[in-house]
Order: sequence, then structure tokens, then C-alpha cells
Amino acid sequence: MSRRRQIYEGKAKILYEGPEPGTLIQYFKDDATAFNAEKKGTINGKGVINNRISEHIFTRLSHIGVPTHFIRRLNMREQLIRQVEIVPIEVVVRNVAAGSICKRLGLEEGQPLPHTLIEYYYKDDALGDPLISEEHIACFNWAGHEEMQDIAAMAIRINDFMCGMFAAIDIRLVDFKLEFGRLWDGDFSRIILADEISPDGCRLWDLNTNEKLDKDRFRRDLGGESEAYQEVARRLGLLQNEDGGPGEVLDMDHARSRLRPQKK
Ligand code: ADP
Ligand code: MG
Repeated sequence: MSRRRQIYEGKAKILYEGPEPGTLIQYFKDDATAFNAEKKGTINGKGVINNRISEHIFTRLSHIGVPTHFIRRLNMREQLIRQVEIVPIEVVVRNVAAGSICKRLGLEEGQPLPHTLIEYYYKDDALGDPLISEEHIACFNWAGHEEMQDIAAMAIRINDFMCGMFAAIDIRLVDFKLEFGRLWDGDFSRIILADEISPDGCRLWDLNTNEKLDKDRFRRDLGGESEAYQEVARRLGLLQNEDGGPGEVLDMDHARSRLRPQKK
């Protein structure tokens, strides 16, 4: 395990060379960053939970025909993925106003948007991931016109699916971030969903109390971030409680021993 070649270490994950050409292993860390990595910390057990939540969502998305990089989960913190050429764009889908859009446009947090918004940010930490338009994407050839059509169509499908999935467990999907990549086959490439979908990159609010169940707990020093991530996993049916009943908070070692094995 330790002899694998490390390809990249990011803020939340490490990429290792995979067992076959064209594959990578994505290792989920407990490290958390916010505000363009100005704030750093760890969320105990986050890597384990995000690995499992992302596996769950990517698997379900593939069942509705959204192509993804996910191949299979290897262990508590690692998953095997297809290597792609990452499109240097962060795709943000917003249903409710929160975060940077509130500051930028003077909106009140929690205000439902008149309709779903897709925003694009240039993926460059040194520049602070600036907001860009499709004009910029075309101008600098970060993605082609048809690629952008595929990306936007997939983002909407993913949003529709995830809104329903979370609503069913009393969670409001406020917004979320996606990354896409190119999978090359000879001279041709197609766009597939890459990276991860987890409470690190989603805003998830309890439908009844508006309690935040995502990385905003860390950004805003609200505390209880591990428990919030666990709560999302629990409601998705990925953690088992002793009595099978709803949610007393489990400590991470406990939670780990209770992660349900993958179905199949
Ligand atoms: P970052 O600090 O850049 O956000 P992360 O800690 O999220 O990094 O690590 C994941 C990195 O791997 C990201 O830069 C992401 O764009 C990239 N990545 C995600 N999925 C794939 C993939 N299938 N192939 C290649 N690179 C990927
Ligand atoms: Mg990242």
C-alpha cells in the first residue's frame, strides 16, 4: 500500500497511481480547508464518511445514466476511479441563496432562487477560484461548446436527482459543486463526472430546522461538524445504529465499525 506512486496531494484528497493504466486511487483525508485555504483544520472521520457518501451518490447517478469516474470503493478511505483530464472549471448549482452569491448580489441567505442557477468558477487556487462566464470558457478554450452543453445538461440532471434524494430524508439541497473530466478514447473524448460529491462541497440544511449539515459548520465555527457529516450518512442509510432507530451521535470508531458493507 505504501509503495504506490503518489500523483497529487490536494486539500481534501490524495491521488495515487491505480492498479491498471487509466485508473487512479482517490484517498479521502480528514483535512478541511475554507476561504481559499486560509482556514485549515481537520474534521474527525470526514474522509471515511465522504468516501462512502460519494460512492453512494456516484453509484446512484450511474444508475440513472450519468457517466462518472467511480469504479469501486476499495476500503474505508479509498476508491478506485478512472483517470480523466480535469476540466478546469468548478460547476456550482444553486437552488437557494447562500454563501458567496449572497455577498456578491446582496441576497439574504435562505432565499429560494427564482430558478436553479448554474455558475462556473475557474479552478485556480492562486486566483481564489474566480467566477467566470461561458464567454471566458470559450475565449480561453477551457472547454468546447458541446462539452459545455453536456456539462450543463448533466448538472441539471444531477441536481434534479439529488434534490429528490435529499428531500426524501428531510434535507434541503441548497447548492453544490461539481467537477467534470475528459475521458479520452483515441482522438475522441467524452465528459464524465469526476472528483467527489459530499458535505464538503454541498450545502445541506435540515428541511424542518434549517440546521446546517455540511462544511459551513467548519467555515463558521459552529462545531459538531463530524456529527453533521455522520447525520447525512445515517439518513442516507449508510450508517447503522445499534437499535436501527434514529440518530444518537456515534463516535467515529464506533461509526467506522458500523459502516455497512457495499451491496452487490
Ligand atoms: P484540490 O485541493 O485541488 O481541490 P482535492 O483534495 O479535492 O484537490 O483532490 C482531488 C484532485 O483530483 C482535484 O484537483 C480534482 O480536480 C482531481 N481529480 C478528481 N477526480 C479526478 C480524476 N478522475 N482524474 C484525475 N484527477 C481527478
Ligand atoms: Mg477539491
